[in-house]
Amino acid sequence: MSLHIPFDNSYAELPAGFYTRLNPTPVKRADILAWNTPLAEELGIEGTDPTVFAGTTVPDGAAPLAQLYAGHQFGNYNPQLGDGRAILLGEVIDQTGQRRDIQLKGSGPTPYSRMGDGRAWLGPVLREYVVSEAMHALGIPTTRALAAVATGEPVYREQGALPGAVLTRIAASHLRVGTFQIFAHRGQIDELGTLTDYAIARHHPDADGPLGLLKAVCAAQSDLVAAWMSVGFIHGVMNTDNCTISGETIDYGPCAFMDAYHEGRVFSSIDQMGRYAFGNQPRIAVWNMAQLATALIQLFNDKEQAVEDATAIVHAMPGQLQAAWLRRFGAKIGLNDPTSDDQSLIEDLLTLMQTDGADFTNTFANLHTDQARDQFTDRDAFDAWAERWRTRGPDMDLMRRTNPEIIPRNHRIEAMIEAAVAGDMAPFERLMMALGTPFDLPADFDDLRRPPTEAEIVPATFCGT
Ligand code: AMP
Ligand code: MG
Repeated sequence: MSLHIPFDNSYAELPAGFYTRLNPTPVKRADILAWNTPLAEELGIEGTDPTVFAGTTVPDGAAPLAQLYAGHQFGNYNPQLGDGRAILLGEVIDQTGQRRDIQLKGSGPTPYSRMGDGRAWLGPVLREYVVSEAMHALGIPTTRALAAVATGEPVYREQGALPGAVLTRIAASHLRVGTFQIFAHRGQIDELGTLTDYAIARHHPDADGPLGLLKAVCAAQSDLVAAWMSVGFIHGVMNTDNCTISGETIDYGPCAFMDAYHEGRVFSSIDQMGRYAFGNQPRIAVWNMAQLATALIQLFNDKEQAVEDATAIVHAMPGQLQAAWLRRFGAKIGLNDPTSDDQSLIEDLLTLMQTDGADFTNTFANLHTDQARDQFTDRDAFDAWAERWRTRGPDMDLMRRTNPEIIPRNHRIEAMIEAAVAGDMAPFERLMMALGTPFDLPADFDDLRRPPTEAEIVPATFCGT
């Protein structure tokens, strides 16, 4: 089959200590389950060859490698992580002039696999495909999904033997806080400097030096996390190795969109302490930036001054996040220019929602109708709130443009995966179709707006990688 990918690789030109070159491991079959035609066009990819996206064939122009990085996992530093089940095939310059990574995930073991098998099963692959594309349709920065391919090989997990799959992930880059941490912790200052220059040139060309980069990443992460909050998204594993320099959402593991609103909501089965609970995400984003700051400080001779400057940047982030949050939630209730008074208006609504377990998405999508009112048991309290709100003159058009009518609900994803495992991709296709236009959902997808019934609730998500 003919495939042309216009590779233009830059990471492979960095010093050898940044990665290990190796090919993906060939697999038995290569059955395309999903292919993202518009994205392929955006990337300038012509034709297709499933064996490339299964990792069996290395395409012309690729420079396959596994990237090295470290990271704090649940607050504890792990001195070496790296791509344990992913291979960067290379980069392309897309139609808009942006450099993008093409990475296979689930493509076999690497020197960084530690105890893992380097593989992924169909469930997490399709979950990431659906959720990352939904995120993109919501207008939130994210890695994208180009292809999902079934390998025809079993992958063994707690549940037993499961069908193996490979995801092709597209990213602005895979640079993360952990990429900086590994060189800083090892005292490899030359590499740290090279990485910093590379990251500035690739992502934040206006940034002035390491502290300029820190400032730019703090801004990007503030916007990102505020955007997550505004759609009820819980990332689930905000470790520093899953925190990008580009400001894209990455690594859809045990992530989930909330149904009933609760600030303390946690889905991930491994997050016992609730470190990455919904309402903690802004604090964790700041914590992650403090780790980036700690790494970047190593580049300075005058450490005392660098610490002072970096601290000021990180300390400014909660304010940036708060401002981004207010803009996002202000728009959700129809206010273009929310004031600090509106902050309490929004918070009061969230408190009512939390008390009644109101559905996050549907409450905002229907705020101007009785359907929202019906979400509340204390109707008087809601009516009193709504009266305050109406005096602010909310812009209904803004609300329609801002509040999605559909999010990838967990129970739908689980049902989609179950069907796919049984060979039925129809629920996947339907979900993808509906999630493609979240602000203008055709009536035949109305059933997908419905929150889960008691029996349908998915209480936890598993890394189950
Ligand atoms: P994650 O939680 O997906 O961000 O992964 C954390 C680290 O574990 C990364 O270094 C991954 O490459 C590695 N990892 C996760 N699952 C596997 C697997 N099945 N095989 C090898 N490495 C893995
Ligand atoms: Mg990761």
